[in-house]
Amino acid sequence: MAEVITRFCPSPTGNPHVGMARTALFSWAFARHHGGRFVFRIEDTDASRDSEESYGLLVDVMHWLGLDWDEGPEVGGPNGPYRQSERMDIYADVAQRLLDAGLAYKAYDTAEELEERREKARAEGRASGYDGLHRDLTPEQRQAFEAEGREPVIRFAMPLKDWTFTDLVRGDITFGAENVQDFVIVRANGQPLYTLTNPTDDALMGVTHVLRGEDLLSSTPRQIALYEAFAQIGVGNGSTPEFAHLPYVTGAGNRKLSKRDPESNLLGYRDQGFLPEGLLNYLALLGWSIADDRDVFTLDELVEAFEIGRVNPNPARFDLQKCEAINGSHMRLLPVDEVRDRLVPYLQSAGLVGDPLTAEQATLLDAAVPLVNERMALLTEGVDMLRFLFVSDDDFVIDEADRAKQLDDAGLDVVRAAHAALEGLGEWTTEAIEGALRGALVDDLGLKPRVAFGPVRVAVTGSRISPPLFESLELLGRERSLRRLADAV
Ligand code: GLU
Repeated sequence: MAEVITRFCPSPTGNPHVGMARTALFSWAFARHHGGRFVFRIEDTDASRDSEESYGLLVDVMHWLGLDWDEGPEVGGPNGPYRQSERMDIYADVAQRLLDAGLAYKAYDTAEELEERREKARAEGRASGYDGLHRDLTPEQRQAFEAEGREPVIRFAMPLKDWTFTDLVRGDITFGAENVQDFVIVRANGQPLYTLTNPTDDALMGVTHVLRGEDLLSSTPRQIALYEAFAQIGVGNGSTPEFAHLPYVTGAGNRKLSKRDPESNLLGYRDQGFLPEGLLNYLALLGWSIADDRDVFTLDELVEAFEIGRVNPNPARFDLQKCEAINGSHMRLLPVDEVRDRLVPYLQSAGLVGDPLTAEQATLLDAAVPLVNERMALLTEGVDMLRFLFVSDDDFVIDEADRAKQLDDAGLDVVRAAHAALEGLGEWTTEAIEGALRGALVDDLGLKPRVAFGPVRVAVTGSRISPPLFESLELLGRERSLRRLADAV
């Protein structure tokens, strides 16, 4: 195979979403698997919808995911610029060359005329796309329309034939000639459309494989026709890329996941403390699998194994619980130091530690992370479990539901007994604390461990979900632990 070149070319509108990340991942993995190049291009030709903010988020999220690109924003490359808004002269030139070669034409129909003819075609049961009426205007007819002040669009003249191609995921696909009419490539105001800019750039950037969502399948015959036209006018290297259309992602109720669904919001995953490797692993499973009996793998393993032929064309269901479980597996694969480092920004944005950490916070964190790294699926769960250690005594609060469950009269008696047992303790170590509490609560009061330690846990950590109790008390220190026990009663 010649050098593989794939691309990810989102439009910067709104928040980056899960479907985009899956497309980016598959395109990236395909290029990496074949030792090829991955191009990142921004399709920002629609000034009314695109935003700089969204562009910034896209670049940001690609960095966060760790999907590196060989050409594109920030890194440049031989076929730049990589933002379509900076390539307008290229599209104008290509459109002109298509016109000059008779492969495209100016069409002067008004919106009303088009609508009227479409209605009529529908009523007569004919295909309702553009009917080609202005394809062969004479120079006089054109002049007459222009004299009326009509502004033409540019339409591509579709050769009259059926279109068949082999999709790498879906196999052979045919679109009948009657279903692919002449389409607009440049608006009356001169704005080039996706229909032109996307294949132009794919051709000029040498893209060999187009991996993208199934919703774009119907644009493929038009793009193939443009490639054939490009070969005639010398845009690109004369070849047509291969296409792979990735399955829809569905959400609850088997509906297609929409950009507006909350689980679509990619940055939400970062905020919730997903690891990029966990999220990418899960996204890979939306349509692909490494083996029937295995669903946790690293990015390197994915690259090694990524075969486009293994992509399943059927819709893939997004299952948040499974996504979290896979993230948890990756959390446990990370060395504890790495979990610590990843946790720091989350603790900082929760306002629990400083930036940079103080020496004391760093020491405490080093001791605390090994207590929780195996118990969390998301980094934010780690923040919740460690909050009690870093929060100031003034800001410490007990979860109300947990208080109601654990700190009733009987629970408060237990807390009092715990306070008494710990008050005089000589050495403040995990072992000594455990010995004192077991002695006072389990042996002397005859309580079951769960009944004995639950109230103490809630009083000291504020929650029923915490790191192991005796270690927690040791880390919190004698003074603060005793104060919290006293405050609870
Ligand atoms: N900018 C297009 C989109 O975001 C790219 C589609 C394609 O991959 O061809 O939908």
